[in-house]
Amino acid sequence: MSDWLIETIHLTKIYGSGETAIRALDDVNVTVAPGEFVAIMGPSGCGKSTLLNMLGALDQPTSGEVWVAGENLAKLKDVDGFRASTVGFVFQLHNLLPTLTAAENIEVPMQGRVASARKRRARALHLLEVVGLAPRANHLPNQLSGGQRQRIAIARALANSPKLVLADEPTGALDSQSGDEILALLGELNRSEGATIAVVTHDRRVAQSTQRILRMQDGRIVEDHRVSDPLEEDLRALAFSKLGETILNPNDAPMQEVSPEEEAILRKLIERLRQ
Ligand code: ADP
Repeated sequence: MSDWLIETIHLTKIYGSGETAIRALDDVNVTVAPGEFVAIMGPSGCGKSTLLNMLGALDQPTSGEVWVAGENLAKLKDVDGFRASTVGFVFQLHNLLPTLTAAENIEVPMQGRVASARKRRARALHLLEVVGLAPRANHLPNQLSGGQRQRIAIARALANSPKLVLADEPTGALDSQSGDEILALLGELNRSEGATIAVVTHDRRVAQSTQRILRMQDGRIVEDHRVSDPLEEDLRALAFSKLGETILNPNDAPMQEVSPEEEAILRKLIERLRQ
């Protein structure tokens, strides 16, 4: 058994067959150590969600292996048990049950795993405190803001103390302040609960708040990068921006207007270099 929390070996997923076949994952070999906080980035359709689904045993590879917490997912005897106890999922849309209160929603994954209702409630109340929503235990989802609902979804993902938390665009549906709070919360949970977290995101700021960025393209991991100092991160963002692309390949892409995001990065860089 390896020491990795996640290990994929020649992981390939092909949807469909013949001429219309889509290689959603193409020979992905990646390892993640216990306790890491990893962002998965890349353009739409590059295979991020497919990878996340494979890691959570929500889908089967076409070939190759996925190991999570010492288990070869193809050989699992109890897939539901694995999903319930080893992995916690957070989706872009929180999927809370509308007729259950915040505390009851957090208790759902504990049904059948924690026998005593009192213990389930105690754990839910503890998690509500962890995510800063203890006073909202008896609120229904529609009585909470989008950011608060996402906090409840995170608490629910942690219900059974999973070793791995998988988050697919968890800030995608939120305004930027709530998004920042969710991120700070994920970072905190990574430190305090020791959970390994893999988060799919389009947002460069999200990625930079993690420790490592996997960049995907056409079903492959094309870059595996440790997040370092902010200056280098900004330079890197610029290098991978449209502007960076245009400067490198002026013939393919004629110079367009600089986007507000690129302008902000450039301004920050210039200000810093002039200090
Ligand atoms: P991302 O999350 O990076 O946007 P996905 O993992 O959702 O990308 O998809 C990767 C590729 O696989 C895309 O080309 C997508 O259209 C295709 N794909 C994903 N799920 C299915 C499916 N169930 N059936 C057929 N094609 C799919």
